[in-house]
Amino acid sequence: MHEWALAESVIKAVVENAGNKKIKEAGVLFGELQAIDKEIFVFALEELRGQYPRAAACRFKIMDEPAVFRCKACSREFPLKGLKKTRDEAEFIHFIPEMAHTFLKCPECKSPDFELVAGRGVSISYIK
Ligand SMILES: [Zn+2]
Repeated sequence: MHEWALAESVIKAVVENAGNKKIKEAGVLFGELQAIDKEIFVFALEELRGQYPRAAACRFKIMDEPAVFRCKACSREFPLKGLKKTRDEAEFIHFIPEMAHTFLKCPECKSPDFELVAGRGVSISYIK
């Protein structure tokens, strides 16, 4: 059900941001570490948009946003992709990004103290 609630809040935000204009297309950034089902989310968008006249004809373009971390020690930013990790670790990080510290280190200074700066959650990137 989380997918439906999220889809509805995305549509509402798009409608609010568009003002009085009819919306043709909206770009939605879908974080790599988003723990929701993308297919259900997309389906929910299609189903729910009809309830909002201005968004009824809107095409939602879903774009994957890769996860990026920033080291708190040296400020180096590094993507989750390309870091050495096992399949199990990758899966674990996907569901509990906070646990990434257990498996990953900054590639520059080896510090385990970093934060997630992109790739979590869903956001709107543009409205046409
Ligand atoms: Zn570092």
